[in-house]
Amino acid sequence: MSKVNVLGVDFDNKSFTQFKNEFVGRINAHQSTFVVTANPEIVMAANENPEFMKILNFDADYITPDGIGIVKAAKMLHTPLKERVTGYDLFTWLMKLANERNLRVYLIGAKPHVIHAVQEKIARDYSGIQLVGAEDGYFNEDLEVMAYQIERTEPDLVFAALGSPRQEQLLAILRKNLLPALMMGVGGSFDVFSGAVKRAPQFWQQVHLEWFYRLVKNPSRFKRMMVLPKFVHEVHEEKRK
Ligand code: UDP
Repeated sequence: MSKVNVLGVDFDNKSFTQFKNEFVGRINAHQSTFVVTANPEIVMAANENPEFMKILNFDADYITPDGIGIVKAAKMLHTPLKERVTGYDLFTWLMKLANERNLRVYLIGAKPHVIHAVQEKIARDYSGIQLVGAEDGYFNEDLEVMAYQIERTEPDLVFAALGSPRQEQLLAILRKNLLPALMMGVGGSFDVFSGAVKRAPQFWQQVHLEWFYRLVKNPSRFKRMMVLPKFVHEVHEEKRK
């Protein structure tokens, strides 16, 4: 099955390698490409917000299963997905690709000190990248204004780390304008990439408890995580039907 529907969101059922190969092809061809990496929180948010659901199912070119919750839900619904494909893994792979190929990269999102640290890391470790823009995520301008600013720099890759649904709203504008770039919403990836936030140690990742590690480190996430039991409940309901 090429698409797997989880509570209304159509995920692409591809392996990490398949996504990579297709993305390389589209970057080479300068095809406008909008990638969403969706976790259970995003699926639940889309179920509450029809505009957001429309962006996912009509504007995005790819939706990857970011999070073990999505993979488990698909399995429960007897439509298994090949594997988990996280935004962070795609982001770091694309940054390496950009470095090798001297691609033009625009970054928008995260706190000012974080985006600054990301810039420094790029200058130090990814000097092949042409950084055409680096903007923090706490601007007052409308998304249309920011979209125009991004377009003018003619990027090959655009990464937006503004949180959902704002990052997807911004990228949907660029995709509608047919910006010939690969664009992806990357949530908290700049925080991790810059070193401001540590990813869970391997052990926690392997036992799929990265979310628990992050919760303990940052208890303010608790409120956001309250949608997760609801997600599990909805998947059970869907299965019963
Ligand atoms: N963020 C931002 N502007 C805002 C609100 C959030 O740039 O107005 C950033 C925030 O600094 C963080 C990212 O958006 O770097 C989203 O982080 P979150 O923890 O929500 O990511 P996720 O858990 O979805 O990966």
